[in-house]
Amino acid sequence: MMGKKVALHTLGCKLNFSETSTIGSQFLSKGYQVVEFKEKADIYVLNTCTVTEHADRECRQLVRRALRQNPNAYVIVTGCYAQLRPEEISQIQGVDAVLGSNEKLKLFSLLDNFEKKEMACIYVSPVSQTNEFGASYSTDADTRTRAYFKIQDGCDYKCTFCTIPMARGGSRSMDPDDVLAEFSKLIKSGYKEIILTGVNVGDYGKSLNTKLYDLLCRMTDIDGNFRIRISSIEPNLLSDDILRLTAQSDKMCRHFHIPLQSGSPKILKLMQRRYKTEMYSDLIHKADQMINGLGIGVDVITGFPGETEEDFLTTYNFIKDLPVSYLHVFTYSERPDTKAITMSGRVDIFERKRRNNMLRILSDKKKNLFYQSMEGKELRVLFESENDKGRIKGFSSNYVRVALDFDPLLVNEFCTVTVESAGDNLCQGKILENNKSFDLIAC
Ligand code: SF4
Repeated sequence: MMGKKVALHTLGCKLNFSETSTIGSQFLSKGYQVVEFKEKADIYVLNTCTVTEHADRECRQLVRRALRQNPNAYVIVTGCYAQLRPEEISQIQGVDAVLGSNEKLKLFSLLDNFEKKEMACIYVSPVSQTNEFGASYSTDADTRTRAYFKIQDGCDYKCTFCTIPMARGGSRSMDPDDVLAEFSKLIKSGYKEIILTGVNVGDYGKSLNTKLYDLLCRMTDIDGNFRIRISSIEPNLLSDDILRLTAQSDKMCRHFHIPLQSGSPKILKLMQRRYKTEMYSDLIHKADQMINGLGIGVDVITGFPGETEEDFLTTYNFIKDLPVSYLHVFTYSERPDTKAITMSGRVDIFERKRRNNMLRILSDKKKNLFYQSMEGKELRVLFESENDKGRIKGFSSNYVRVALDFDPLLVNEFCTVTVESAGDNLCQGKILENNKSFDLIAC
């Protein structure tokens, strides 16, 4: 077995990245060498996504790319797209195995020595049986700056545009004691920022009779030099308890990513989202008032079926008036088997993109304003490792990108920085003289 090589590639979200990382660790523990996807390997693993607009094309291209490196390689395709379209994927020339969501982290027990057979094998259990929780996290093992830690999987919601529940199954969570044990291990091994990930992180604990807030309390009680970031949280699940904890604990990042999807009440209803615009607006204003310097990111979709110009402008103006700091804008694209694909009022693709572009411009304005509001303020920044033309960069707790002159002593360290100026997507900072020996106390 020694000397065999595996290459892995991830499409999609941070959750997929954390699972790919766990698959990589499984191969390492079996004596494999993990190499880049562009290198020659004996096995290629492709962890797919269904949110990607051209999942099938991308999948084919990546399989071809793998086989160009090694025509005899064993090719495994897993992930959401594999769960939804196993037969289709098994027909792609060169694919040897298709693994569904439940099987993703079990490839060593399912695949017999990775020996090529005439036909691709398919291990995909129905999504109704996809109820196990596969623990995983992804890390930048070299620098130990941040780790993406999966604590939740699946979703019980029924947003009409979304295929994720069909691909990943119902909501389920990692046992809180197991979370705490893994979390403590990550902290002890030196990771400074732990990003809690999942499909619907705010739903954590539902099946276990506990809540995300309880878990966060236990996590923030742990001693150490670290901070916690929640990757994303549905507005109806961001409780006052979590807001209060974030306001009080330096271990909680002052940053939330809160999907909105549309600011039009009519479109929100068609999307079957679980909140109204008034509730969203109240939440954002409340959070902004409770938590000093809070950074807020927002997901929005443009061109959902039935979205008229008026509906879009309602969304635009709704967001314009909210104290949020940036947007992630997605163009609606039809997904097979969703309710939305059957809805009338299809929006022309160019129009969807025009609206997307308008919101991106609004996002830039929001971000610039937010960054400018940081001028003169002190931010606690966790620096990364890269020397980018003599500069070192990092994110503050409230998700502001800050740069300083490169200093190797700053790599993977928290440091309090005064923001001197704010530019496009970056603030320039300086360390105060009396702060030069950056301390290692919790941020
Ligand atoms: S909350 Fe809605 S959009 Fe998010 S994963 Fe669940 S169904 Fe999909």
